[in-house]
Amino acid sequence: MTIVVLGSGTMGAGIAEVAIIQGQHVVLTDPDPAARQRAYQRIQKSLQRGIEKGRLAEPLATYISRLALADSGPTQDVDWVIEAAPEQLALKQRIFEDLDQRYGESVWLASNTSSIAISRLQARAARFPERIGGLHFFNPVPRMALVEIIRGLDTSDAYLASARELTRRLGKTGVVVPDRPGFLVNRVARPYYLEALRMADEGVATFAVVDDVMEGAGFPMGPFRVMDLVGIDVNLSVTKSVYEQTYWDERYRPHPWQEQLVERGTWGRKSGRGFYRYE
Ligand code: NAD
Repeated sequence: MTIVVLGSGTMGAGIAEVAIIQGQHVVLTDPDPAARQRAYQRIQKSLQRGIEKGRLAEPLATYISRLALADSGPTQDVDWVIEAAPEQLALKQRIFEDLDQRYGESVWLASNTSSIAISRLQARAARFPERIGGLHFFNPVPRMALVEIIRGLDTSDAYLASARELTRRLGKTGVVVPDRPGFLVNRVARPYYLEALRMADEGVATFAVVDDVMEGAGFPMGPFRVMDLVGIDVNLSVTKSVYEQTYWDERYRPHPWQEQLVERGTWGRKSGRGFYRYE
């Protein structure tokens, strides 16, 4: 199977890594050559670690032989296109308008969006909107089993069956979720971040204390550590998107701190500094 992954950031690189480990061929694309290079190095390092720890059985060269980097995807002999570009509605709509024109009916198209309605992407596909759906992987992709499969207004049953098969082949658990803002996980998770931001801002507890206490209560990661992992910029985009799509439901209102951190370039682990500092 050949999978084209659009966007070589945190998620695109993770999806590509999992797919090549599972024996699939991947063309990983990004308009930014530096992003492609970073993704390549990240994947190589992660595979190397897996081999050293005995989790991966094949030589590095075998995995890498299944990975190609490009500035845009091929159109022939492609089974799936998975889009993992930034969380911006207009950008994703443009991408899907173009994908629908470029790819034949038998090619399945997926967005890894965290919050944007799949139906709004399908609305731009003049030809075959029924072969479009959401495949929402979680971060870090190699470790997280769940994939939310999003059914847009036009998504076909055949698409859902094929998406289930793909997630199975990638060693993941696919769960079909309705096309509502934030789908399931990101809707439940929004107040986790937002209430934590408000509490730290009000001086109820520092962010490090909030994290430690939540982890002590059994959550695998405190909200501030998750925001640093996800990317504070990505987290803000998702929050804004859910807020707008719920017609400004107060429960999802972004916190001013988020915008300030993003504008300063404090994006979390990927920029070396978020709520915490990283080497
Ligand atoms: P990122 O910022 O790390 O990477 C996005 C990449 O897309 C960048 O390298 C950028 O150069 C590239 N890009 C820009 N325009 C493009 C285009 N037209 N075509 C292809 N690539 C383009 O972002 P990310 O964290 O990987 O998030 C990508 C998507 O996955 C977003 O929709 C996000 O909401 C979703 N998502 C993110 C997480 C997370 O924890 N970070 C989890 C689940 C889903």
